[in-house]
Amino acid sequence: MREISAKAHGKVNLHLGVGDARPDGYHELVTVFQSLSLSDTLTLEVDDEDFVALSEGSIVVGLTVSGLDAASVPRDATNLAWRGVDTLVDYYRRVHGLTHLPRVRIRIHKGIPTAGGMAGGSADAAAALVATHALISETMPALAPEILDDLAAVLGSDVPFSLRGGTMLGTGRGERLTPMLSRGQYHWALVFSKEGLSTPQVFSRLDELRTQGHQLDPSIETADLAHALMTGQAGELAKHLINDLQGPATNLRPDIARTLERGQRAGALAAVVSGSGPTCALLCSSELHARDVLDDLLDEGFFSGTIAHGPAKGAHLINDLNN
Ligand code: ATP
Repeated sequence: MREISAKAHGKVNLHLGVGDARPDGYHELVTVFQSLSLSDTLTLEVDDEDFVALSEGSIVVGLTVSGLDAASVPRDATNLAWRGVDTLVDYYRRVHGLTHLPRVRIRIHKGIPTAGGMAGGSADAAAALVATHALISETMPALAPEILDDLAAVLGSDVPFSLRGGTMLGTGRGERLTPMLSRGQYHWALVFSKEGLSTPQVFSRLDELRTQGHQLDPSIETADLAHALMTGQAGELAKHLINDLQGPATNLRPDIARTLERGQRAGALAAVVSGSGPTCALLCSSELHARDVLDDLLDEGFFSGTIAHGPAKGAHLINDLNN
């Protein structure tokens, strides 16, 4: 038995502009992603003595999860990491005539909250693509990054960004990426919620609020944010954080609005819902400031969270699990 491990990071949307729903059900987005230091680690346990013929279905024989929110992560073939392995194997089978592979078990250690608006499942899918690609390319041609991006986009709108990391403008449903310049590091206090929030439910609530006539126009302009990112000043960035899903998320869950307000009282430069929530991202001026703001909230006893900084790398292989 041997192991192949990959790490992938969570993200925060510095800008999340949401347009109308498209005929395919997805919403048109203009978003700026930034990957954060908190991460999940995925390990493939490879049994080189047990090969499976690929006509017989998945090479995955089991999946275990440990760490943050582990109990709410599926352990079957619906897990995005399992789907990531199957998607890549299927591609190699169809396009390169791959016939046999060793069976694998997937082990996931979560540091990213589940259903928290930080793309935790997408991170695991990206890590699964990277680890499985390493396994298959031992004997088959490696794939161009663009092909991995296309396969990632089939798995989910945030998976291509999880593969790439850094700071990126995302358009379409968030899967069409353009790198953005970002100077320096930004520090965050992240406040988790005990209960997750369903991403489709938050988008639906935005549609409902718009239909009821609430003035919730899509935020499509990112020029000021781009400029702020080039200054490297957290104080500048704080003025331009925008999330069109914040209204519907707080409408569904008033406790989120209270957390944001509490974060600002604790001295954060800005407080914003991360993606579709419920995680609240509090922008701070330094790591020490982020620690102080978080401690202030944790002292009350009903918040949990962590500090993080960004940008971080895209999904990558690791040899040393401390990497
Ligand atoms: P996003 O920010 O991309 O909208 P999220 O961070 O809010 O997503 P995820 O953590 O990706 O949400 O989880 C959404 C749902 O996906 C979970 O409720 C869970 O049932 C399912 N899921 C499937 N695979 C995973 C995984 N590997 N880790 C976490 N959740 C997973």
